[in-house]
Amino acid sequence: MPAVFSPQFNNDFFKGQVTINTGLFINGQWVGGSSGTFVDVVNPSTGKLLTKVSEGTTKDVDLAVAAAQKAFDTVWGSHCPGSQRGKLLNKLANIMESRLDELCAVEALNNGKTFQSAKYADVSFSISIIRYYAGWSDKIHGQTIETDRNKLAYTLHEPFGVVGQIIPWNFPLLMLSMKIGPALATGNTIIMKPSELTPLTALMVADMTREAGFPPGVFNLIVGYGNTVGQAITEHRGIEKVAFTGSTLVGRKIMEAAAKSNLKNVTLELGGKSPNIIFNDADLGQAVNWTAHGLFVNSGQICCAGTRIFVQSGIYDKFLAKFTERIKTIKVGDPFAKDTNQGPQVSQIQFDRIMSYIESGKQQGAKVHIGGGRIGNEGYFIEPTVFTETKSSMKIVQEEIFGPVGVLIKFEDEEDVVRQANDTLYGLAAAVFTQDINRALETAHKLKAGTTWINCVVTLNPNVPFGGFKQSGIGRELGEYALHNYTNVKAVHVNLGHKM
Ligand code: NAD
Repeated sequence: MPAVFSPQFNNDFFKGQVTINTGLFINGQWVGGSSGTFVDVVNPSTGKLLTKVSEGTTKDVDLAVAAAQKAFDTVWGSHCPGSQRGKLLNKLANIMESRLDELCAVEALNNGKTFQSAKYADVSFSISIIRYYAGWSDKIHGQTIETDRNKLAYTLHEPFGVVGQIIPWNFPLLMLSMKIGPALATGNTIIMKPSELTPLTALMVADMTREAGFPPGVFNLIVGYGNTVGQAITEHRGIEKVAFTGSTLVGRKIMEAAAKSNLKNVTLELGGKSPNIIFNDADLGQAVNWTAHGLFVNSGQICCAGTRIFVQSGIYDKFLAKFTERIKTIKVGDPFAKDTNQGPQVSQIQFDRIMSYIESGKQQGAKVHIGGGRIGNEGYFIEPTVFTETKSSMKIVQEEIFGPVGVLIKFEDEEDVVRQANDTLYGLAAAVFTQDINRALETAHKLKAGTTWINCVVTLNPNVPFGGFKQSGIGRELGEYALHNYTNVKAVHVNLGHKM
């Protein structure tokens, strides 16, 4: 029987102990990994080991796929009515809600995000998403299509069967919820691989699926590394579809491996370098607040962060002064303290990566307007950082940094800013700040991005699709659109008694 991790919390938000199984969850059971090896899970606030979690292997993926296939063939898919799948998803959401503070505490401990942001954003949003897809479970239907006289055609939206889901560390529970909601609502069974850095809330959810009453094998969870478990999922011939969220680099590998194995269906949610455009006539105070939110939320570790901040020349100086004052109010520190706005970066590797981007910005001639340094001697804390005097060829302008680092760029007119904003290989999101509705809509329509916010940034809803243009992804998550990621369309032609 695999071990249990029981962190004790004693802070202003949550006092109590949480029990987390640290094995692999296969066929409704906690089991040890077949290799007997472990993944180290670290606290990013201290850099110290939190616990060890069983490490999965290709063999464990095989076992999980067999269990998931059996569940699909016997108790799930067409064997379980949509209304029942919806009931189970609602039960899962209720259990998550009843353990909201525990989930937030573990998310803050393992990822470093603040308890408050976990509570008011990630975890609450995750629960809403599960409820939203619970509602869809009995509304998965196709179309009736008129064909010839005495003939009828209709479509069925059928689940793929066993699907693989691979997620990153920046929103561990939210990424999981965005994946399992539509997959389970449509009747698929799942092999989930969380990030090896942040597996703890996923392990908690595995237990909750059992408590909610999901049949064994419907949800399987395997912690492990990308080049072992991730690759095994992507290459597995028993898996019909893989849904991935993570970097564009790995997304490309996923597509290649999927193509070379069984040409499985692929959806990808990848990186971004999103423009945040502020016109002269914007409400300055609002634009400053939203821009700070869009850049520094989740310690800047968010795919749709507004990291390229374009400010029109007429308000550039005023914006910069006000934005600087706003940044100075951001308190970086303990994720469990009431006044903390920004926690640590997730890992030593991410910390080093961000610091090397800051260094490259300096070396390429950009000016560190504010921030740029490490905070404290332990953990992975970085100051909120903004560069000015950049050039479009610089790495800090072109590449995704995935940390609390943005660049401020002056622009003259709409044409100029649209050209610069679209000058990126990414196309995940964009934001426009102006009080002129015509300018807002015209600009929004010209931007090549899957989401464009007007007078706000980084706000998501369960029922609104999210995903990327260009190298930011394929397919959409959230909303009704995500259901299409998890169903195959079958056309049925019926001859109503008419002989040939
Ligand atoms: P990553 O690509 O390094 O890893 C993501 C997941 O893929 C992890 O579980 C990892 O173990 C696994 N993985 C790594 N190599 C693999 C391989 N060869 N085969 C299969 N799986 C493999 O990304 P990350 O560092 O965890 O997350 C940060 C990235 O995620 C950023 O680029 C960010 O923009 C992106 N992201 C995108 C969205 C979105 O919705 N578009 C949301 C969150 C994060």
